[in-house]
Amino acid sequence: MKRTITIEEVRKAVEAAHAHFREEKGGKNADYIPYLKNVPSGLFGITVCLADGRSVSAGDTDYRFGIESVSKVPTALLVMNQYGARKILERIGADATGLPFNSIMAILLENDHPSTPLVNAGAISACSMVRPAGNAEAKWKAIAQFISSLCGSDVTVIDELYRSESATNFNNRSIAWLLKNYDRIYDDPEMALDLYTRQCSLGVSTRQLAVMAATIANCGTNPVTREEVFHANLTPHIASLMATVGFYERTGDWLFNTGLPAKSGVGGGIMAVVPGVMGLAAFAPPLDGAGNSVKAQKALEYISVRLGLNIFNPARIEVAAQESVKEKACR
Ligand code: GLU
Repeated sequence: MKRTITIEEVRKAVEAAHAHFREEKGGKNADYIPYLKNVPSGLFGITVCLADGRSVSAGDTDYRFGIESVSKVPTALLVMNQYGARKILERIGADATGLPFNSIMAILLENDHPSTPLVNAGAISACSMVRPAGNAEAKWKAIAQFISSLCGSDVTVIDELYRSESATNFNNRSIAWLLKNYDRIYDDPEMALDLYTRQCSLGVSTRQLAVMAATIANCGTNPVTREEVFHANLTPHIASLMATVGFYERTGDWLFNTGLPAKSGVGGGIMAVVPGVMGLAAFAPPLDGAGNSVKAQKALEYISVRLGLNIFNPARIEVAAQESVKEKACR
């Protein structure tokens, strides 16, 4: 039932998506974090990395933008890798709130957990769980190293963005302390908040983000460096979390149109995963009303439809892999 496509077809789809949406004018940069307001709005890049490590790119794919909420994916993975997936379900949960990503109301409405590690409350809670406990620098090292391993190259904080977020993150500060009130912070709340703010301020390119997505697609083994970054059985769990909440309050619409587990961030980046097949990343700063990049989502939707990537479609594709790549199952 599956259709096999070549990397040339992927390249044509990526180039066509870039050409189609380059002039798209909708949306505007996030402005509640001052740094993001000033990122050049015309930047636009797309990268697809196959589960065997080959990649194709179009546009501004080396520009390092703020990873923002996309960072919630690797931290959720790190914590699942350290504790096992069950523990995260128990302590944080896996349900969409149906409310904005930084909602305080969602915490008040949930009695027993912060809902999912892919919204602010759950992500701050996840940062508090990162091992080793009690040591901010060691925790940060664990997070930054894990993200670099997923990307296959070093990621570093954009200092100006970190300062900008730290000076304005009053809502997130309230979330951290409210979670503490409900016993859902598992270390110092200020430390968890700072780790979360730092991880959101990491700069990544679409090339790096696509390798991260391909590592998830490839059951935890980075297809470029060959490093085994996380347990293979976590791919279906993280893909499920992305599918349920990755596009804020527009997640249902996105999934309906593309059938792709994906996570977007207010820096303008989107990362999508086709398990076993490929990772995709796109970036363009102007956002829609829910916080998703207008151009990046159109580009990825175009590629998904053109290549038949929808994971719910039995006729979805696989890509002709290089001979060196062994078949892998996420077990
Ligand atoms: N650092 C941002 C915040 O906490 C991330 C938001 C996002 O990308 O959704 O508000």
